[in-house]
Amino acid sequence: MSKKPKSTDTLVVYTGTRPQPGHGSVIPPIVQASTFAHSEPGVYEYDYTRTDNPTRSSLQATLAMLENAKHGLVYSSGMAAVDSIMNLLEAGDHIVTGDDIYGGTYRYLTDVVARRGITFSFINMYDEADVAAAIKPNTKMIWFESPTNPLLNLVDMEMIARLSKKHNLLSVIDNTFATPYFQKPLDYGIDITMHSLTKYVNGHSDVIMGGIMVNDDDLHEQLKSLQNAIGPTPSPFDCFLAQRGIKTFAVRMKQHEVGAMKIAKYLQNHPKVEEVMYPGLPEHPHHDLALKQMTGFGGMVSFKAKTDLDGTVRLLQATDIFILAVSLGGVESLIEQPATMTHFEMPPEVRAEVGITDNLVRLSVGIEDPDDLIADLEYALDQI
Ligand SMILES: *Cc1c(COP(=O)(O)O)cnc(C)c1O
Repeated sequence: MSKKPKSTDTLVVYTGTRPQPGHGSVIPPIVQASTFAHSEPGVYEYDYTRTDNPTRSSLQATLAMLENAKHGLVYSSGMAAVDSIMNLLEAGDHIVTGDDIYGGTYRYLTDVVARRGITFSFINMYDEADVAAAIKPNTKMIWFESPTNPLLNLVDMEMIARLSKKHNLLSVIDNTFATPYFQKPLDYGIDITMHSLTKYVNGHSDVIMGGIMVNDDDLHEQLKSLQNAIGPTPSPFDCFLAQRGIKTFAVRMKQHEVGAMKIAKYLQNHPKVEEVMYPGLPEHPHHDLALKQMTGFGGMVSFKAKTDLDGTVRLLQATDIFILAVSLGGVESLIEQPATMTHFEMPPEVRAEVGITDNLVRLSVGIEDPDDLIADLEYALDQI
């Protein structure tokens, strides 16, 4: 046999789609079974689907391959993956995290984790000195996003890995925005990569699912045992859909980026736009870091329109191709207002402090023709 392919563009098609033993289907079957026969008591390949399932295993192997990870685990949602990671902690522990993280993670920490006697600090994570200053004797974890949601700031992964090793902390990145196509955090020494697979990885806005990738065997065992004990497992059918989505992952990510770059440049020159946030722009404050730790800039673009709340609402309601909806990473373009939609859970004073203003608009640039998308935005911007 010839050598296994190397390029991610090939591997997304190749992995998990080799002809299956027994029947030769080129696609892994959906094993829609909750339980499996033992050949003798306690002797089995699969036992029970909460513990593991063949369709899930196939997806997990593909995800581990994508992220250069030794192990992959998938969950019934991104938040279920977040919850499983937080279950590694105990009462009395402290977490250092960013101040412009995903609204749902913010809510999870403040509403759920806080009740378990775990404390956290929401900080600006862009300078090593600030992160180091937030580490306390009981700190056990650094949780971060890069790029952040919705402001698209970048955090230096090498710096986080270095501080985590020095203080014996678990470093965790939510890699949903960059995706393993553009960023492989484990290669930079980060301990855990977490994803909402709902977004780019599945890519078709028809599945809710989460993922965790790690290299460490013990960490994998702990997480797997928590998964079996708690039960946040996805259905075999959803695993099949995500595996199906991954076959076009590479071509989709390239097109998302082409569109996002073109739109970011267009918005930059628009008289009704105050500020554009896209790490691919040379003017972006973390552009050099993006060049260092990412192989592309992704498909998310945020901008501030030169208008008030009402003007922003008119803009949001005037697009035709961009759909007014939360979520991101699907083939179709979406537009939303973080202040009233994805980040509504954040108290207004916190939003104001981190810069999530009423005129902030977040775009998930789909794979449509960028010129059509620009024409759609042009019309919407005329309405403010
Ligand atoms: C959507 C999202 C999540 C939560 O994932 P679900 O699949 O919706 O549970 C977590 N982090 C980020 C950055 C997200 O965009």
